[in-house]
Amino acid sequence: MAAQIIDGKQIAAEMRAELKAEVAKLKEKNIVPGLGVVLIGDDPASKSYVTAKERACEEIGIYSNDNRLPADTTQEELIELVKKLNNDPKINGILVQLPLPKQLDESEVLLTISPAKDVDGFHPINIGKMVAGEKAFLPCTPHGIIQLLQRSNVTLEGAEVVVVGRSNIVGKPIANMLIQKADTGNATVTVCHTRTKDLASHTKRADIIIAAVGRPNTVTADMVKEGVVVIDVGVNRVEDASKKRGYRLVGDVDFEAVKEKASLITPVPGGVGPMTITMLLYNTVESAKIAAGL
Ligand code: NAP
Repeated sequence: MAAQIIDGKQIAAEMRAELKAEVAKLKEKNIVPGLGVVLIGDDPASKSYVTAKERACEEIGIYSNDNRLPADTTQEELIELVKKLNNDPKINGILVQLPLPKQLDESEVLLTISPAKDVDGFHPINIGKMVAGEKAFLPCTPHGIIQLLQRSNVTLEGAEVVVVGRSNIVGKPIANMLIQKADTGNATVTVCHTRTKDLASHTKRADIIIAAVGRPNTVTADMVKEGVVVIDVGVNRVEDASKKRGYRLVGDVDFEAVKEKASLITPVPGGVGPMTITMLLYNTVESAKIAAGL
């Protein structure tokens, strides 16, 4: 039987409606959540991500403060801007769009962002708290995956989860979140990567597969068991002459074949992607509530 599709757009829209209602209530108390957005240079992909994030802020009533600097911005200028945003009471979250131009030290910039405004969840203090199971700003993509699973009524407790990929922004944090002793965790997690000996031997026994690789068809139908839940994080361009722009987007999973065996599966696009921005909005609202002592 073909899988049910986990509709990330729909779940993201539900969460954004919840956040919009929450922001409206905060405004009655004169609290307006604010996001400081920093974009360096003119990379078209980064520009479109930032525009989408700012539009999403506007849609739910978050104030966004746009800071666009030229590609030759110096480390000192960027650090100064981040410090200014750290000290601005109207700003509850700071988003520095990555990657940065080569002359800039990403690690120093991320360390300069106040952990209290680190709504991307990349600061080592927030990462450390997440690993220790303490309250922290959780990184947006893995947090969005947890929301997709929970809102699709997937049982995490005791589930065998196989994460393919061990990046700092997806693989490692999602694995960490899922092993926490919490309602959003309690799973048994295996993390696979390029040095894993026999990837299929792991994916075949998984109740839930989370693929965050960046390579099409890494997970194929012969690698999964019947009834598996599949979360496809990958976003890959493949040539497609039938499209005006000459390519289409696919995930890391052979969607058409795997959906015939899975019980639930996310599409690409329209699965994990819409959740990432939503969780950024969520963290910004949380930060505003904490700053107001709520
Ligand atoms: P990344 O930093 O490049 O990490 C990729 C991981 O996949 C690495 O750990 C790598 O192993 C592993 N890997 C590569 N080939 C493999 C293979 N054949 N078998 C097993 N493991 C393999 O990527 P990322 O930043 O996590 O992103 C992954 C994908 O998700 C990309 O397509 C990205 O565009 C997408 N993404 C989407 C969103 C969203 O919001 N939708 C957000 C973030 C990322 P090694 O560590 O051994 O090299």
